Amino acid sequence: MLVLLLDGVAFERIEHLWRQGYFRMFHRPARVISVFPTLTDPAYDAFFRCGPTPGYEAGYFDRAANRLTGAFRLYLRGANEKWVRFTDYRIGFFEDAIMYLFPRRTFRSELRRTRRVVDDCLARGRPEVVIYILSTDGLGHMLTCPKIDEMLTELDRWVAHLLDERDGELEIVMLADHGISTTPTKRFRLRRRLRRAGLRTVKRLARPGDVAVPTFGLLDFARVHTYDDATRDQVVEALAGCPQVELVAWRAGERVGLLTDGGQAQIAARQDGDRLVYRYQAVCGDPLGLEGVCPAMQAAGAMDDEGFAGSAAWVARTAEHDFPAAVPRLWDGMCRLSAEQPDVAVSLADGWYTGSGLLSYFVQMQGTHGGLHRRAGETFAMSTSSELPTPIGLEELSLVIRRRHRWQPGERGRVPDRPEKNGD
Ligand SMILES: [Zn+2]
Repeated sequence: MLVLLLDGVAFERIEHLWRQGYFRMFHRPARVISVFPTLTDPAYDAFFRCGPTPGYEAGYFDRAANRLTGAFRLYLRGANEKWVRFTDYRIGFFEDAIMYLFPRRTFRSELRRTRRVVDDCLARGRPEVVIYILSTDGLGHMLTCPKIDEMLTELDRWVAHLLDERDGELEIVMLADHGISTTPTKRFRLRRRLRRAGLRTVKRLARPGDVAVPTFGLLDFARVHTYDDATRDQVVEALAGCPQVELVAWRAGERVGLLTDGGQAQIAARQDGDRLVYRYQAVCGDPLGLEGVCPAMQAAGAMDDEGFAGSAAWVARTAEHDFPAAVPRLWDGMCRLSAEQPDVAVSLADGWYTGSGLLSYFVQMQGTHGGLHRRAGETFAMSTSSELPTPIGLEELSLVIRRRHRWQPGERGRVPDRPEKNGD
């Protein structure tokens, strides 16, 4: 089996191409709801079940050490990418940087290189090959939709060729980690906004009013670590009124508070047997627009008397909302999937990004991700052997693929990759 992992490809792109007759070696694409934040490391750590991720991305705030990590050093060491150990190919770290300047060239070169890796692994009789193509994220950030589509048709030919040469005797599963928005982005100066509200942006939290804001990628998402609860409340207040901010979430013990134009609510979770169940309680208004949904879930037996429901039920009922499956995704993202548990997280409105000032001088982005919205939250999966269930959460998808394909991802380097010693 070949598992093709892409980066930053929206469901809409693949579905559009599939309707036009591309990627027809695959069954119909499933709508996959990614994790929150919609970033590669938490998403693929969840998919390979090797989390929690140390930080949301290589540059993060390490609470135990009370410091912002050296982002580029960690990135170059791959220290935040545990999931990469399960793959046979990942582009060299130094090429990452130039990828955003030359996304098409990098994509084509990755297609050539990955083809050699796949051939080589299969020639050695390896039962499963896992390939990660990063440059699709570069296409998504830097190109308009018609140009992304044009490049993805080259991937369609790549897959067709591969299958042709093996007379169709290869199962392929292809998916991506998160979607990507499609509006050219303007920079939101979030740190400046916080400073204007009287807060101090620092590297170490030492006194009330201190906040640490990790910035690494150029994202429609940001998180803030605060000295204490009072500082956290000030941050929430400073960001809640910004037109660039679509949703503010904060951690209050084991609960997650959230605020949108529509009001304020609270999310709680508890263990129910071997799974988690999640509850949404409006404080005022109905910020996620779930007023009608919860009674229907209860009536259908998908929600218990106290209002708790499992992740799959939330995905099934709210996959097409503006913030798909927001109830489990917000709680998981703030409390479970990463060791970085920020005090405040914000999801930006369409057309805005925030992040490193230096990087933003080099690039004009056509889209980005990180936020909770459907724009970045919705990606895809498809298989050559069967139609995958849809809509589906990324973690559930991982279980379905393992079951259907009897797939047990193995760590490279530890797992012997000579099948003659492995398979008898
Ligand atoms: Zn990206």
